[in-house]
Amino acid sequence: MTRLKEEAIRRVDSLARFTRQMTDQLFSYGELGFQEGETSRYLIDVLRREGFTVEENVAGIPTAWVATWGRGRPVIALGADLDGIPQASQKPGVAYRDPLVPGAPGHGEGHNAGQAVNITAAIAVKRIMQRDGIQGTLKVWPGVAEEQLGAKAYFVRAGVFRDVDVCLFAHVDDNLATSWGSSSYNALVSVLFSFEGRSAHAAGSPWAGRSALDAVQLMDIAWNFRREHLRLQQRSHSVIVDGGDQPNVVPQTASVWYYLRETDYPRTVELLETATRIAEGAAMMTETKLASTRILGSAWPPHFNRPLAEAATRNIQRVGLPRWTDADQTLARALQRESGGNDRGLATRLDTLAGTIPEEQKRGGGSDDIGDVSWNVPTISLRFPSNIPGLRWHSWETAVAMATPIAHKGATAGAKAQAMTILDILLDRALVDSAWRYFRDVQTKDMQYKPLMRANDRPATHLNAELMAKYREQMRRYYYDPTRYETYLEQLRIAYPTVRAP
Ligand SMILES: [Zn+2]
Repeated sequence: MTRLKEEAIRRVDSLARFTRQMTDQLFSYGELGFQEGETSRYLIDVLRREGFTVEENVAGIPTAWVATWGRGRPVIALGADLDGIPQASQKPGVAYRDPLVPGAPGHGEGHNAGQAVNITAAIAVKRIMQRDGIQGTLKVWPGVAEEQLGAKAYFVRAGVFRDVDVCLFAHVDDNLATSWGSSSYNALVSVLFSFEGRSAHAAGSPWAGRSALDAVQLMDIAWNFRREHLRLQQRSHSVIVDGGDQPNVVPQTASVWYYLRETDYPRTVELLETATRIAEGAAMMTETKLASTRILGSAWPPHFNRPLAEAATRNIQRVGLPRWTDADQTLARALQRESGGNDRGLATRLDTLAGTIPEEQKRGGGSDDIGDVSWNVPTISLRFPSNIPGLRWHSWETAVAMATPIAHKGATAGAKAQAMTILDILLDRALVDSAWRYFRDVQTKDMQYKPLMRANDRPATHLNAELMAKYREQMRRYYYDPTRYETYLEQLRIAYPTVRAP
């Protein structure tokens, strides 16, 4: 095993150029959730060239696919997200706001590097499996529309994980680490409340109209009063996606999109019921109609597998953090100052393995629909060090590092750890058994999975279509061309790092 793991490390190192090109390519696409068309096309082509069988249009989602290689047990699912963030377009390697295409989306979290981690690891291990005749199946899959919590529950419903023994997820971060148990990640339901009123001339005969926008505003006001009487762990936020057409027409339709988050399934369902009652109340007050409550996405709170996390941590310790250059640290520090934080630079000490957070200590937080997968098959999420600590996530700041040597070295480090954990699972049947024992006897002993979306809900694949259509042609000019340029920085003629003059 030691020898095979050393070989996996060497193979991942020799694929560093491949890893870098994939990371840069996806960065340049910068596509939003459910619109990851270029991204998926590119990844599918790479995987087919590597001999994977690719099923497309999985779960009725045009940008979803599952790529399979190998035969027999164990079946190892390798997942990573694909999508970007609105208005996060940013020149990589530049430590101040400088968009490639103003207003356009971009990889303001770093979802462009996760597939490179998994696919590099899969290729490295596959070569070893082929040579040594090691049995097992690798299943690479994409976290489509993670920002909308839009796809993974549907993958579960479509049976993507039915025969899977273990799922290894990879997610960008600023350190190399994993965790087990439940964290402060929340469950979530994403729901669109749509109201219908009656239009009228807003000056000539306003009394004849009933404003759907009034219902939206009253709902928001009521929710903000109610917020005082909700648990501290909840998170809820909304945007008005339809606020009417123009001021002199009483808005006939209006809708508001809420993300409602709580620590577990029952409390999240309760939050949705509260919000729905408030929406009904707002409709009653305004004599409008609550036309529909459409669920656009959902997520269970992740619970990660302890034996798998412990095995992965041994591999993580063997890999360690990348060696950062002065240029990497200069970029990181300049950006940390720009963000108004402490300029401590990049991580130089490995995080330790984090365990479950007791219910009474949870403070609430973000969500990730890997939660749904984690309640169906033993799962862990590898955090890999492709980004800079201390920045504002989901903004242009966390895009800066994502097509630079920081992202590339972080992805290579992640791929090494992932490849070694795949070898553990392939060759140590006892590890898979103990993963399932933990899953059955500890994790799901008192809590079983039921999806948060309803039986008749469908993936919200229309999301982001207009936004993407608005910017795609302008963004296309900046797609990375690896046949002409060694790196994306070179193509963009960006000096690395570019920082403000002191
Ligand atoms: Zn993410």
